[in-house]
Amino acid sequence: MDNLLLQDAHALITGATAGIGWEIARLFVQHGASVTLIGRNQERAEKLTALLEKEKPLSSQKIVYFLCDVSSVSSVEEAFEKMTAPVDILVNNAGITRDNLLLRMREEEFDAVMNTNLKSVFATCKCAIRPMLKAKKGVIINISSVIGVMGNAGQTNYAASKAGIIGFTKSLAKEVAKKSIRVNAIAPGFIQTDMTKDLPENTREAIIKNIPMNQLGDPLDVAKVALFLASNLASYVTGQTIHVDGGMVM
Ligand code: NAP
Repeated sequence: MDNLLLQDAHALITGATAGIGWEIARLFVQHGASVTLIGRNQERAEKLTALLEKEKPLSSQKIVYFLCDVSSVSSVEEAFEKMTAPVDILVNNAGITRDNLLLRMREEEFDAVMNTNLKSVFATCKCAIRPMLKAKKGVIINISSVIGVMGNAGQTNYAASKAGIIGFTKSLAKEVAKKSIRVNAIAPGFIQTDMTKDLPENTREAIIKNIPMNQLGDPLDVAKVALFLASNLASYVTGQTIHVDGGMVM
């Protein structure tokens, strides 16, 4: 099977129990990776792990899940301690929204978004980076958002967390580039997942009008770029933020 891009690699994907994270996990497994799924919903984690177990092309691939709240540094550290294999590819995808105009936004809404979307990236990267430095290889992919680049009324917390991810990505990329560790971000536009399913019809129409490709994206559109960044096809790419947004931001 010469066309497997991630054979023998171990990928950890946060927020892999739904949406974009699930599609990334699935594509990585199709390309021969062992994967660790991170999420909080046990029922979904169990079901999806079993599905990947059936779909994996190589018997050597290991598919496991850990229940972990990525907004808690100690919960992330515990999950890493339980892991039996070092992480070659880390995908920080878990994310939430708690939208509100700033005037109405409660401190809890700000903190929940910052802790889940940004502090989690600090926590997982800190756990993953030491073995990567020792191995002199590794890939980190952080899922940002076009909102972190262009802003959006009602999303000061979310935009700050996603812009923070871009700055974090560039800084860590500079810290570890000499050790052949690549750190990149992906900035999806509007992608059809649970996060966007409840948009009112008029908002959805207004969003689509502003997308040059005239449609929402599919989680697989993001997963394909994650696969590229995770693989050797992107061997000289680091510190970048790749937009997957149908041309929304250019
Ligand atoms: P989604 O369908 O709502 O899925 C979110 C995932 O994150 C779920 O697997 C959820 O798992 C997990 N998660 C949430 N909080 C967590 C926590 N505290 N600890 C561990 N896992 C947690 O979202 P999505 O649309 O796929 O979004 C994935 C990423 O892409 C997010 O970072 C989002 O900001 C970003 N993004 C999405 C869009 C879009 O249009 N959809 C656009 C730009 C960027 P559990 O429920 O099992 O905890």
